[in-house]
Amino acid sequence: MTVRVRMAPSPTGYLHVGTARTALFNWLFARHHGGTFIVRVDDTDLERSTAEYEEEILSSFRWLGLHWDEGIEVGGPHGTYRQSDRLDRYRSLARRLVDDGLAYYDDRSPGELDLLRTKAQGEGRHPGHYIRRPETPFEKGVIRLAIPEGHAVAFDDLIRGTVSFEPEALDDFVILRSDGTPTYHLASTVDDIDYEITHVARGEDLLPSTPKHILLTRALGGEAPVYAHLPLLLGPDGKKLSKRHGATALSDYRTSGILPEAMFNYLAILGWSLDAQTTIFSREEAVEEFDLADVSKNPSAFDPDKLVWMNGEYIRAMPEEEFSSRARPWVEEALGRALLEDEWPKFEEIAAEVQERTKLLPEVGDQVRFLFEEIDEYDPAAWSKVMEREEVPKVLEESLARLSNLKSWDPVSIESTLREIPEMLGIGAGKAFQPLRVAVTGSSVSPPLFESMAALGQHPTLARIERARQELG
Ligand code: GLU
Repeated sequence: MTVRVRMAPSPTGYLHVGTARTALFNWLFARHHGGTFIVRVDDTDLERSTAEYEEEILSSFRWLGLHWDEGIEVGGPHGTYRQSDRLDRYRSLARRLVDDGLAYYDDRSPGELDLLRTKAQGEGRHPGHYIRRPETPFEKGVIRLAIPEGHAVAFDDLIRGTVSFEPEALDDFVILRSDGTPTYHLASTVDDIDYEITHVARGEDLLPSTPKHILLTRALGGEAPVYAHLPLLLGPDGKKLSKRHGATALSDYRTSGILPEAMFNYLAILGWSLDAQTTIFSREEAVEEFDLADVSKNPSAFDPDKLVWMNGEYIRAMPEEEFSSRARPWVEEALGRALLEDEWPKFEEIAAEVQERTKLLPEVGDQVRFLFEEIDEYDPAAWSKVMEREEVPKVLEESLARLSNLKSWDPVSIESTLREIPEMLGIGAGKAFQPLRVAVTGSSVSPPLFESMAALGQHPTLARIERARQELG
């Protein structure tokens, strides 16, 4: 089977996660069938399209690993893949349809058309009943496609099965505006024909456009592609996904530290599944199994919490060296400086512990800041809760005495000498170790204490405990 699919983003806004999922399904379908994935730019809305949005969308596709075989930037047999470069093509085809008697000029004013719509409404008819080809043709105005009367338009949707639109649901829609610019219907249909698109997989919100595209394709003498309308994404509460549920821009997840492979996996399970039980799977496994026909026709919920959970699973599954190298830019970002080569081993010493506790890479910066910076300020809540208890000066003093005599500075030795303190003072381990954690890291949440001390080094650890002791007075 020949497969040529396309994504056709309009660069009038950031890439929505729903559109990213549509792109992913198109890509998977192309890869599964050894087909061609095409990206073209639908920028006929010249006023709202910007180069920044275009770059944001394309770079998000690349970040997700959805590389395209043909299209914008990469080129291909069809020359340009940008609609604004093809305006003459759309115009000449619209005029050809007029010459063939399949479309007509219409210069009725919006007011006149409104009256016809109201009239139709009053009679319980679809506006298409009146918005029809006028008796005497005009020479200018918009160009409308003349819908063949009395025929339903039906097609087999790969996901939804047979879909049929009654004739009353279709009016003679505009294909070319009076300023000579094509509507979405014309430009999109012409491109799909010219680029020999075999399957159009797109959001269900575009379903009402599809009968129009089928009629237009027929009028242009083309062969309609197979359509697949993907169900919409909802928020976790079952309502239409919106900013109330969290970010809807793919790039916001990217900057919050979601890994591209986790995003890929998560988008893939929104309406599709590898099998009955596997949630986490690789790109290759998805390519192997994917089919548009297996996509559910029910809407699925985009749950940012589940995405973060999945991201944590991906982080834990990484080899430790990979975790370290991918975490490093985030640590440097948090510190506001590059790390020196002899500083980095401190991180590596504690990397495994940090990896266990991380769901998003940017969290790593805060977890390990204490290794690379002096404590600027103790976390005030931690200080008042932990440090002002009466046994704390004694704990710090005992720790200093033991740790300064320690010959071998590693987590096991540190732990075994510190474990004697709670016993000796007759207090719980938590009471003994929490003050040390605040003294050494500045906060009550950090990687495990003994590993943290080991990574920081003996001298700096002693200096910090000493400093906390002095702060207590
Ligand atoms: N530019 C259209 C959009 O972004 C493309 C829709 C389609 O896939 O036909 O909604």
